[in-house]
Amino acid sequence: MSVIPHILITRQEIHEAIDKMAGEIRRDYADKNPLLIGVLKGSFIFMADLVRQIAIPLEVTFTRLSSYGSGTESSGKIKVLARLGETVKDRDVIIVEDIIDTGLTTAYLISYLNKRKPASVRLCSLTDKPSRHKVPVKIDYLGFTVPDKFIVGYGIDWDEKYRYLPDICYVE
Ligand code: 5GP
Repeated sequence: MSVIPHILITRQEIHEAIDKMAGEIRRDYADKNPLLIGVLKGSFIFMADLVRQIAIPLEVTFTRLSSYGSGTESSGKIKVLARLGETVKDRDVIIVEDIIDTGLTTAYLISYLNKRKPASVRLCSLTDKPSRHKVPVKIDYLGFTVPDKFIVGYGIDWDEKYRYLPDICYVE
């Protein structure tokens, strides 16, 4: 089966949204040295662009959660594959996500982090599919609300393909 990705959000629009989010984070976290935790693998390009725009002292780490595998539907069974240990204690944490779909992954990660006693936890996501939420999710810094389509590009894959696309696209 051949799949053609269609552009949903252009690279220009992505960079404008990142400028806006980064400005808000810069304002809220001046002098706080926040710890940004990227959720691999989909957030790696977003994280790289975001931190360069935030441009205040901060630290970066990554975690990895069990993912969809090669399907396009969440199994709802989530595991933290890259554990964060002591790194979050007393820190002002910002989770950096590529997509919030059902919200189950993020809800799980927030409860995992809260057990490790951070000073605060906020959520930054490049995209959100509100029509798909199964649990309430509060997104503090959001790039785009997207329709219920399968998104790829700008770091986001389908079965490891399409991460390199510079725009956010959808496949059918
Ligand atoms: P949730 O737990 O919110 O349902 O799913 C979050 C994760 O599912 C995302 O971080 C991403 O890995 C994957 N996901 C959800 N929707 C999409 C999508 O449209 N495209 C891709 N490539 N992954 C998605």
